[in-house]
Amino acid sequence: MGKATGFMEYARAENPYRDAEARLGDFGDLHAAQPAEVRFCQASRCMNCGVPFCQSDFGCPLHNLIPEWNDLLCRGQEQAALDRLLQTAPFPEFTGRVCPALCEKACNLADDGVTNRDNELYLIEKGFSKGWIKPRIPASRTGKRVAVVGSGPAGLAAADLMNQMGHTVTVIEKADRPGGLLMYGIPNMKLPKEIVMRRIRLMEAEGVSFLLNTEARPDLTEDYDAVILCGGAKKPRSLNVAHLDAKGVLFAVDYLTEATKAVLSGTDPAVSAKGKHVVVVGGGDTGNDCVGTALRQRCASVTQLEMMPAAPESRAPGNPWPEWPRTLRTDYGQIEAIAVQGGDPRIYETTVQSIQVNEKNEIVSLTTVRLAKGPEGRLSPVPGTEKTLSCGLLLIAAGFVGCEDATLSCLSLQADARGRLLPVDGSHHLGGKLFSAGDMRTGQSLVVRALADGRAAAAEAHRFLEGKNGF
Ligand SMILES: Cc1cc2nc3c(=O)[nH]c(=O)nc-3n(C[C@H](O)[C@H](O)[C@H](O)COP(=O)(O)OP(=O)(O)OC[C@H]3O[C@@H](n4cnc5c(N)ncnc54)[C@H](O)[C@@H]3O)c2cc1C
Ligand code: SF4
Repeated sequence: MGKATGFMEYARAENPYRDAEARLGDFGDLHAAQPAEVRFCQASRCMNCGVPFCQSDFGCPLHNLIPEWNDLLCRGQEQAALDRLLQTAPFPEFTGRVCPALCEKACNLADDGVTNRDNELYLIEKGFSKGWIKPRIPASRTGKRVAVVGSGPAGLAAADLMNQMGHTVTVIEKADRPGGLLMYGIPNMKLPKEIVMRRIRLMEAEGVSFLLNTEARPDLTEDYDAVILCGGAKKPRSLNVAHLDAKGVLFAVDYLTEATKAVLSGTDPAVSAKGKHVVVVGGGDTGNDCVGTALRQRCASVTQLEMMPAAPESRAPGNPWPEWPRTLRTDYGQIEAIAVQGGDPRIYETTVQSIQVNEKNEIVSLTTVRLAKGPEGRLSPVPGTEKTLSCGLLLIAAGFVGCEDATLSCLSLQADARGRLLPVDGSHHLGGKLFSAGDMRTGQSLVVRALADGRAAAAEAHRFLEGKNGF
């Protein structure tokens, strides 16, 4: 612990958001960085607890050595702190921006947890700016060839570790750019795409090959010694209403993908919210990203519908520390909507009952209805609560139901009842030379969990290639 009284002397200070109205003028980073002195003080708040819950299963899925690098950072030993961080964290520039920071909620300082995410981001960006991050080229190669299908966080983490272990790794990605949801899903203001490309270039310099615009082939196992499937879980949950084929009705990730492509190419998006009344179905994080994106595209208005009631303001009795708090959060998109529209865009316990279209099959409005729990606990529409909302763009962000059918059928694989390629023994080994990782194995989750799962699959595939531990 760099300073025994740090947690009593300094208040928690996160990297501040840029002003809501100013940041709506661009797709640039949401946050402004803080100077080194602030980060040193923030790191000094870490108490080096006897039982560091931040590192436990309640906290960081990568089991980052948080108290150790906070201690070094607090003492100004930035390079040593970064080295400790990189022992377990493959890409802190991603988690430092988009991780919900499970570690901070599990911190013994509870609601005032140490700002580990911002500290981690500070360290990795310092490393890049000082030239401490250099390609780590393995001293020797094993001669084994590994294919990783999918270049999201799970695929990148698996590829990175397999490459560091000396195997020759090819990442096969069907999209035109690498990164999975880091590239096409999470918007640029949360994770600028040059940050994703900086890591891809570094991995290429370390020897990893990327095949873009390329689908997984059924005969992959003939060409490679091991194949790690990290295809994600992007099959969206739909709505049970007519006219879903109307112009102006889109799944959230398709809309967010087009928005990012437009930002990167400097052109108008194929589908824009500009001048439209936008309705987002789904009150979660994906829905929030749609709200923030629609506002940047200058929509006329944005409304977010959520089936469930609002979460409580503080922890419910069954949700104690150090568990993740299931409490009401107002995220950046909703904060921006409040700044522009004067009120929270979320309407709870409400869903879409029907969609109305014009003669050109364009959506023009929709009917909403309130939901209430019946005696058997199921949500059902409440008659007489119907309302009509003007709508030129309906974005469906109602969650995901598992991995995409095309990948499964191409590789003759069958998902479990929840759409996952999760071996019954809980491992990553699907049989033969095939392994699975990330959302494809666990269902839609988080970047940090996908990273941890990709590394775990790589460790298992490495043992398989070496013929060890039961293989
Ligand atoms: C809009 C949105 C915002 C999110 N924001 C956050 C956030 O802020 N923080 C957070 O922690 N998590 C967030 N998540 C969740 C997080 O992005 C995912 O959990 C994570 O990306 C999963 O990583 P993955 O590598 O398993 O899969 P993915 O990132 O989905 O990557 C899978 C890749 O596999 C490729 N692929 C699929 N099939 C094939 C095939 N047959 N051949 C070749 N390639 C194939 C896909 O094109 C894709 O590139 C968000 C999710 C969404 C949808
Ligand atoms: S990856 Fe996430 S949970 Fe782990 S230390 Fe960083 S912010 Fe915390």
